[in-house]
Amino acid sequence: MDCLFCKIIAGDIPSAKVYEDENVYAFKDINPQAPVHVLVVPKTHICCADKIDAQNSVYVAKIFEAIPEIAAQMGLTNGYRIINNCGEDGCQTVKHLHFHILGGKKLPENMG
Ligand code: 5GP
Ligand code: ZN
Repeated sequence: MDCLFCKIIAGDIPSAKVYEDENVYAFKDINPQAPVHVLVVPKTHICCADKIDAQNSVYVAKIFEAIPEIAAQMGLTNGYRIINNCGEDGCQTVKHLHFHILGGKKLPENMG
């Protein structure tokens, strides 16, 4: 499949991995927007949050189970922000569901 994050998960494109288990892969964003900027993705291809359903929501649960471990590993002891961009108006650029974890500083209050 012609999907950048599927290729990263498969190891065909290199990434700075920070976490991996059976269902979840996490790696550093190539263009960080904060001192810590990690992308957390399901290993199965789901295009976007708008396509989460009763069949695939288990992968979303697995992601959120992994996030505290990833945050601790990245030293985010004082909180962090989780962002999902969905579709055109959400400015989603990579069409494989991913959650941004941002932290390592006090983030701006404005959410756009
Ligand atoms: P989106 O805008 O779709 O929510 O986020 C896509 C993110 O993927 C962006 O923050 C962008 O910097 C990141 N990204 C795009 N291509 C690559 C890549 O090849 N490697 C990594 N590590 N991150 C990427
Ligand atoms: Zn994919």
